[in-house]
Amino acid sequence: MSNIIAIVGRPNVGKSTLFNRLTKSKSAIVEEMSGVTRDRIYGVSEWNGRAFSVIDTGGYVRGSDDIFESEIRKQVEIAIEEANAIIFVSDVTVGITDLDESVAAILRKAKKPVFVVANKVDNATRANDAFEFFNYGLGDVYNLSSINGSGTGELLDDLVKVFKDDVDEEESDVPRISIVGKPNVGKSSFINAITGEQRNIVTDISGTTRDSIDTDFKLFGFDFKLVDTAGIRKKNKVHEDIEYYSVIRSVRSIEYSDVCVLMIDATEGLQKQDLNIFYIIEKNKKGVVLLVNKWDLIEDKSPEYVKEYEDKLREDLAPFNNVPIIFTSTISKQRLHRALEKTMEVYANRMQKIPTSELNNFLQDVIERSPPPSVKGKFIKIKFVTQLPTHSPSFALFCNLPQYIRDDYKRFIENKLRQRFNFEGVPIRIFFRKK
Ligand code: GDP
Ligand code: GDP
Repeated sequence: MSNIIAIVGRPNVGKSTLFNRLTKSKSAIVEEMSGVTRDRIYGVSEWNGRAFSVIDTGGYVRGSDDIFESEIRKQVEIAIEEANAIIFVSDVTVGITDLDESVAAILRKAKKPVFVVANKVDNATRANDAFEFFNYGLGDVYNLSSINGSGTGELLDDLVKVFKDDVDEEESDVPRISIVGKPNVGKSSFINAITGEQRNIVTDISGTTRDSIDTDFKLFGFDFKLVDTAGIRKKNKVHEDIEYYSVIRSVRSIEYSDVCVLMIDATEGLQKQDLNIFYIIEKNKKGVVLLVNKWDLIEDKSPEYVKEYEDKLREDLAPFNNVPIIFTSTISKQRLHRALEKTMEVYANRMQKIPTSELNNFLQDVIERSPPPSVKGKFIKIKFVTQLPTHSPSFALFCNLPQYIRDDYKRFIENKLRQRFNFEGVPIRIFFRKK
């Protein structure tokens, strides 16, 4: 996936309402299960068969009244850098405010397509008031009601027209790896440490079609491409960035990767913004390895404490419990090689294709022992299983009544698959289809 839409505008115009409408999450229950709450700032959507990502840049200041113009300015600048197109939302019941105008001024200079939305046009009388927004000088105005959904179709029809063609994921034959995480967790130190030892950069390829820079590496016998993360490239800027923005800045790198190395600071543990990044990786069905860096700063290195620490992490990551966790230090060079090795393993796990016969032999047995519970006296018969030819592991189970399969049975099948095959660090998808 390679098209990113950012929603900008001052607070209370309805950005998050629009975001929720565009990204209607089916996995809301899963998202609530973890103990650490995350912001809903990233989602995926689809229109006319085109998939795209949506970022709500305003999430950070939601609910605060004393919003500084400089903060809005920053949001808009980040949106311009990171997105392919921008939705600029205004409130028709209020009209153009000074803050709206200053956002518009930045957007007029941007070299990205901008879609002006007059939000809260809940009825026809309000449509007349929306003409005011032509004064921004940013082109057409889309009348929308994020609350009732009217007008979103017209907006999306035009939005997908500016999308670039999706880059084929399988285009590269070596693993694409990105190092992601909040500022100051040690990402650059990690890269320096692993590349410094055995520097053997093959080529520098600047992305022409993909707005990302991959560098080819051959280290410790592994071939891989490091997807240049914005957080590392814009080193000077990132240190003044708030963690929230580093999450937004990691979206593109994650989308271009096969496996993401998510780094956190051992002294802080897994926090909200770390989990937000994890969530983007999961949403994109990418492989993941969690590095708990700065482990040298942890005094208690007893096996008991390590276990306690790891258990807590797994609790916070639930229900995604099959994630490799490695405790590293870029200072004492602890387990850096192991981290890279694990990353390659996860890549292989994600690439594996399980023969249909093996899959059926295994699952038929499992299903026979624990068939899906009958619903209203109807028995669900699963007849055949196959792995779909997708980039990340997906399985289709053909059955007579797919609509009666409950989520807990889906999870049961997933767990069984994980016990039998090695999908460590890899999100897998399971579909029940009618046959
Ligand atoms: P944000 O700060 O820009 O993200 O704004 P929110 O999405 O939090 O919305 C601010 C307020 O406007 C909330 O009370 C929403 O319910 C309301 N709102 C959002 N969209 C609409 C709309 O289309 N019509 C009406 N009448 N209210 C809306
Ligand atoms: P980035 O912003 O994620 O790229 O983080 P940096 O690599 O710039 O590191 C931020 C700070 O953490 C620097 O002062 C590093 O020296 C320090 N640091 C990085 N890794 C470690 C580590 O493993 N242990 C300790 N104690 N400090 C580290």
